[in-house]
Amino acid sequence: MIRIDIQSKSQVELIDITTEVQEAIREASIKNGCGMLFVPHTTAAVTINENADPDVITDMLKALDKIVPLQGGYRHAEGNSAAHVKTTLVGNSEMLMIEEGRVVLGRWQGIYFCEFDGPRPRQVLFKTISA
Ligand code: ZN
Repeated sequence: MIRIDIQSKSQVELIDITTEVQEAIREASIKNGCGMLFVPHTTAAVTINENADPDVITDMLKALDKIVPLQGGYRHAEGNSAAHVKTTLVGNSEMLMIEEGRVVLGRWQGIYFCEFDGPRPRQVLFKTISA
């Protein structure tokens, strides 16, 4: 298992970790197979989406805020219920295909770590399976 360390810088942000994931694949010396990305946090997630136009990321965060407002009369005393809900909506894991030592992504796709309750140190765990 490989650990990718991330330091988020805002309360809410999407961080492109495609390069770090590619580096992890190189480190694992895996040529063909798959890799499971897992975020071991309750207020952070992982997703794959467009990495060409940064406005897409801005719009996604805006849309998530609309669906799950920061203040919503939540009960959870820690005050970060919106972050918990967004994490469940986006999800804690992504399964990736690896071909010829490279992660398989569409032309416009990037892998994003989703911070919903930062800033703080975070990690993404990555496990590869050779096939
Ligand atoms: Zn909480």
